Order: sequence, then C-alpha cells, then structure tokens
Amino acid sequence: MPAQKQLPVLKVMYLFAGRQRHSDIGSFLRKAEESGHFKLELMEFHIERSPDQDLSDRALWDRIIALLKEGDWVLIVSTPCNTFSRARFQRKHLGPKPLRTNTWPRGFPWLGKIDRAKVEEANMFVDNCLLACDVTASAGGIFLLEHPEDLGAVQGIRPGSIWQWEELLELIPKFGACCFAVHQCKFGGATPKPTRFLSSFQVNDPRCYCSLPKFDRLGSYKGPLPRDCGHVHEHKLIGKTGSQWNTAPSASYPPDLCQFLAGLILDAKAPYGRGEKNESLPKRRRVAESVEAQSPAPSTKHEVHVHEGSGLLERVKFTHAMLAQFYRKATQSLRDQNHRCQTTLKSLQFLRTVGTFLTCLHVETQGANRS
Ligand SMILES: [Zn+2]
Repeated sequence: MPAQKQLPVLKVMYLFAGRQRHSDIGSFLRKAEESGHFKLELMEFHIERSPDQDLSDRALWDRIIALLKEGDWVLIVSTPCNTFSRARFQRKHLGPKPLRTNTWPRGFPWLGKIDRAKVEEANMFVDNCLLACDVTASAGGIFLLEHPEDLGAVQGIRPGSIWQWEELLELIPKFGACCFAVHQCKFGGATPKPTRFLSSFQVNDPRCYCSLPKFDRLGSYKGPLPRDCGHVHEHKLIGKTGSQWNTAPSASYPPDLCQFLAGLILDAKAPYGRGEKNESLPKRRRVAESVEAQSPAPSTKHEVHVHEGSGLLERVKFTHAMLAQFYRKATQSLRDQNHRCQTTLKSLQFLRTVGTFLTCLHVETQGANRS
C-alpha cells in the first residue's frame, strides 16, 4: 500500500523483552498500529526468543548503541533482576545465596569464580542498559526502564538494587526523568510485586507513586508505595511452591500493565500516538533538555530538605543554578566514596532528596508551560 509510506514511524526497541506472549507490550503497540495513524518498527531482544538476540554478546550491544544513536527511538528495558533478588536474603528458604548488598552494589569482592562471572554479566547488562537509555534520550528519543522496587532491609541487611546505583540516579536530573513505583496487582497482577520504573517522560496516574524509595535509619522501606495494597493475596512471592521458586511465575507483566505501559509510550509520542484524540493536545516538551534549561527564573529560590535516615537534618534555600551545582557536587562526592567502597547511607539519602526535588521541579515547570 503506497499510502502507508506517508505515515509517521514509531521506532520501538525492547531489551530483555522476555518470551513472546499473547498480551505483551509489543502486542498492544501492534494493535494500536492498526488504527492507521502510524507505522510501527518494533525490535525486541531476548535470548529466549532467538540465539542471535543474545545480549551477553558485547558486539550485539555495539550494534544496538549505534542504532539508538540514529535518534528518535522509544527504548524499553527490563534489566534481569536474578542476581539482585531479595529472595536470596530470606535465609529460612535456603535458596540461592546473596551476591550483593547496598554496600557492595557491584557484587561482593569475595565471590567465587562462578558467582563472580554471574554478577559481572548482570553488571554488564545494567551498565549497557543505562548507556542505552542515555544514548536514546540524548538523541531525541524516550526511554522506560523497569526493575523491582528497592524494598529496603531484609533481616537487617540491605539487598543491592539498581535503584542505588549512582549511574542510574544521574539520569534523573540529566533528562528530567520520572521515577515511579507501582503495585502490579493494581494492574491485574496476582501479587503486589512492587515494581519501579524510570521514564524520560512524565507519568500522571494515581496508581503510579512518583518519588524515589525512602528508608528509615535501619534501612526499612518507608514508601512511596503503601505497605498494604488493599487486597488479600493468597499467592506468595517469596519461597517455594512445589519445586518452583515463587518469584518465577510473576516474571512477566500482567496484561493490564502491558496495556498501560504501551499507552504511556503512545501518549509520550503524541501527537500521532493515539490518533485524533491526542492531536489537540499541546506538543510535549522534549524531555532531553537539561534541568538547568528548564529553570523558571535563575533567581527563584527553592527550599531543600536534607534528610538523614528518617530525620530532617537541615532546610536550605537554593537558587535553581546553585541547586544544579550542588547536585553535581553530591554525585561527585558519592563517586569518590565509591572508589573507597564506602557509600554511606547519609550521602545516598541526601542524593535522593535532591534528585527527587529536581524531578518535582521538572513536573511543576512542565505543568506551568502547558497552559
Ligand atoms: Zn494487591
């Protein structure tokens, strides 16, 4: 059909897409394509689909990054979470043992050869996923990254989580990204399975809690997700049922969540995403603009609350430019500390507070510009 050549093209790349299912994100995007408002180019990568999609192959990553640099991509990433799993910290279940904590985010230095190789491959996946997000947003595209929520201490120990990685946290101010958590049961899942997302576009939905994870002095989770999702669930996420670990069946998203995420992507790619309905909406700002560039006025002062544990340490007033500079210093100091392997709770908490604040500011600025 020659008429199809005139349609705008929606280029979507999905890394670690998992097995092809009847109601995954790709299938909802294909369904939306049937509206005839755009042409979908969908690339999905996962070893379970084909041996030539093996993301442990570094040459494949080089090709992926080069492709994303061409610009205007929608990137979805579901970084494998196996080596991060909280189930490893449930000592009573005698499952696979812990490989990393928040003190050792890239794996314990005393790991044996097999575990070390496992952790290094997982680290390579995360590093490349973060690079892919950075490249995508820098080249005018949008990204959506998913990983289990960091739910804090298990029996006094803080499991490692990618939401503690400074390389990830740096993407928030860099792209004015939105970091939100959901209970999957609010989208038809059999269990709450608290899941966190980082998106380079803004998300407005009462089921999405837009804030970085918070912890008390002992590292216990303090939100933003409420402890109680409001349902009674019989299926347990931790432990074993028969011979299978309970984390396995919930690895794929419930169909409603796939539909919701596909909708977010189409909305973010307005005006052609959902057809006529969205064409009247003002075109959204490019999220790749720096936080500094979105400053409402250079002299406007903002109050920043610096927390240590659950207590308020200080209230400081900053201009927007000072705040951006302050953030850079905080990330630098964190990086220096990592070299000495001494990431302290205090600096992480501080970084989170500033990161959250910058995200909030971004939301406010966007809202003001929309009218
Ligand atoms: Zn629930």
